[in-house]
Amino acid sequence: MLTFDEEIKPNAQALGMMRTSTFDDVPGMQLQQARVTASSVPPTPEKTVSTGRIRVEDKRIINCNADVNQLVPFKYKWAWEKYLAACANHWMPQEVNMTADIALWKSDRLTADERLLVKRNLGFFSTADSLAANNIVLGTYRHISNPECRQYLLRQAFEEAIHTHAYQYIVESLGLDDGEIFNMYHEVGSIRAKDEFLLPFIDVLTNPQFKTGTPQADQDLLRSLIVFACIMEGLFFYVGFVQILALGRQNKMTGAAEQYQYILRDESMHLNFGVDVINQIKMENPHLWTAEFREEVRGLMQKGVELEYAYAEDTMPRGVLGLNATMFKEYLRFIANRRCQQIGVDILYPGATNPFPWMAEMIDLKKEKNFFETRVTEYQTGGALSWD
Ligand code: FE
Repeated sequence: MLTFDEEIKPNAQALGMMRTSTFDDVPGMQLQQARVTASSVPPTPEKTVSTGRIRVEDKRIINCNADVNQLVPFKYKWAWEKYLAACANHWMPQEVNMTADIALWKSDRLTADERLLVKRNLGFFSTADSLAANNIVLGTYRHISNPECRQYLLRQAFEEAIHTHAYQYIVESLGLDDGEIFNMYHEVGSIRAKDEFLLPFIDVLTNPQFKTGTPQADQDLLRSLIVFACIMEGLFFYVGFVQILALGRQNKMTGAAEQYQYILRDESMHLNFGVDVINQIKMENPHLWTAEFREEVRGLMQKGVELEYAYAEDTMPRGVLGLNATMFKEYLRFIANRRCQQIGVDILYPGATNPFPWMAEMIDLKKEKNFFETRVTEYQTGGALSWD
């Protein structure tokens, strides 16, 4: 394990250490504020809540002055549909039986390389979904001024909590050293490098002074949304998903693999929602989508591929499970091309192909919305109730 002299850069907002802040520029807080201050202080024009009935044509993803407390009439039906689909996919970690995983972990049937892979895999994921949740709750949510998108973000934030719960449940079930696993993002170079790449894009949105409404600020938001959806959730998770699903295919760590299947299904929808938001902002604000900005996005994507490949090498210093780091180079290029296509920038790696055809069976990149529908048991809510 690599250790570092330096402390990881403080990231107060992303790590959940609350700053004292007001809600002055938080869409949705205006109504409450108006009630408190109406008798004494007249509202400033940009903070005034419209008293008229909301019209579909007034709704916008960012910089919308329409009342964000009125969910309907819907403008972005894709956001509402994803919210409904996400709720239908609900699951909880403790519903997954870990008995076989525990027996395997205690046995001598796992190699040292397989154990390293599992631990470093959990070492990234165990803190990554906390970063994701903080990014949504303390950052993105404030700047998305549309209620149906906010409804999905609320659901997404809860799913990030469930994912962190899942990694904690696996760590606890296997009796791993939780201090070791949850500190890997400080102590393992390739994990730390991925998080350090992400933190500036989270920090810009969680800064209480940050406000959209200028071309530069709106590009800052758009850039952060692209990094979060297409690089973090859409690229940085994929080496880890392949690894645990590869174990599951060999009938190893099947409880962990089942949970990763649920997580992959959730994350696939997070990615697709993010892509829809990005493309809608582009459509509503074409002045943001300059050639220079698109080139910058390609550069970030390329950096993401390099970082994720370094992580693949760090988790698999020798080949394991029929996988090796070199295979991931091609796989990451293939996925990066797909992300570029999804948001409309030129691909980086012409001719890249998928070296894991078995993954295509589980992650059909053309059908990300529903690729696990036939495999994953639906969460039974009503069925558990009894009125007798
Ligand atoms: Fe996510």
